Amino acid sequence: MQFDAAVLHRVGRPLAIERVTLGPLRPHDVLVRVRASSVCHTDVEVAEGQLAYPLPIVLGHEAAGTVERTGSAVSRVVTGDHVVLSWNPNCGNCFYCDLDQPILCEQYLRHGPRGTQFDGDARLSLDGRPLHHLMFIASFAEYCVVSEHGAVPVPVELPFDRACLLGCGVMTGVGGVLNIAHPPYGATVAVLGCGAVGLSAVQGARLAGAERIVALDIRADKLELARRLGATHTFAVGTEPLVEAIKALTQGRGADVVIEAAGTAESLRLSVELTRPGGQVVWLGKVAVGQDVPFRWGALMGEKRITRSSYGGARPARDFPMLARAYLDGRLKLDELISRRIALADINAAFAALKRGEVIRTVIEFPV
Ligand SMILES: [Zn+2]
Ligand SMILES: [Zn+2]
Repeated sequence: MQFDAAVLHRVGRPLAIERVTLGPLRPHDVLVRVRASSVCHTDVEVAEGQLAYPLPIVLGHEAAGTVERTGSAVSRVVTGDHVVLSWNPNCGNCFYCDLDQPILCEQYLRHGPRGTQFDGDARLSLDGRPLHHLMFIASFAEYCVVSEHGAVPVPVELPFDRACLLGCGVMTGVGGVLNIAHPPYGATVAVLGCGAVGLSAVQGARLAGAERIVALDIRADKLELARRLGATHTFAVGTEPLVEAIKALTQGRGADVVIEAAGTAESLRLSVELTRPGGQVVWLGKVAVGQDVPFRWGALMGEKRITRSSYGGARPARDFPMLARAYLDGRLKLDELISRRIALADINAAFAALKRGEVIRTVIEFPV
């Protein structure tokens, strides 16, 4: 079959909308009609070459849609299911899967950087040439094919434009708190960076019963949004003495949990400074893989625990439905994260807006 997809041919160049070809479904493949796909920083990093992937490639990894067709061996979903897509399919029987660390699944780590599907082969092509898939999803397209472990059913009441957000940014932020940090009820949680991941971490802290939720960002509009989503205190990075501000709130100790979601060397350094002795630091942001990050040794002392997490400890089959129910119950706010809704043809403007920090999420909607 053929359909429209946004293709990155060369790093630093705009994506081109192309008519791409999808080969036959394999036994464990699920064909998804994409209904909404949002633009995440990782897509921008690939387009700009900070994250190296083989080209040409179809980007997009935060998506929701309906199951159009399934391979012969698929048992986890059926045609018509509404699904949120996970970029961390895992094999279930390798060294890391046995250690209960699906994010390190050896099949996942082997094939992800190659831009193939989970079994190691690409399914897409353009004019007879193979086309790569980003993060086993490639959802800046009218259709995408995923492993059945990457398609998680969610309630049909959840609108697609909000459902797609669960697949990466919301899962990472909420999960960074609930799955990784496990703050005790009444804790002080500080969140550095109020993009989609940080604002979701603010909500994770609220869901966990944190007493003080401190949001930090350079932009006043994002701090205002953090307040609407549950932050009890906000501070502007760059203009206020942040270590002193957090200490003043915590009888001089520092935050119980600090979630880093800004992705700069300075923010990573600051995250440790803000954490109390014995506290937990969770790094969700990222800098270029070759970049050194300086720390003050004294800030690392005091039995602090530091965890770097890519996906907030996600167990998508468990967590996506939980997040969906939290939204439908009014406990998790998603509408506020959507800054713009666009058509696929306008995707390059969405990349530029995210890079400038103007938007939380731009959602690409696909008409039925
Ligand atoms: Zn992402
Ligand atoms: Zn595995």
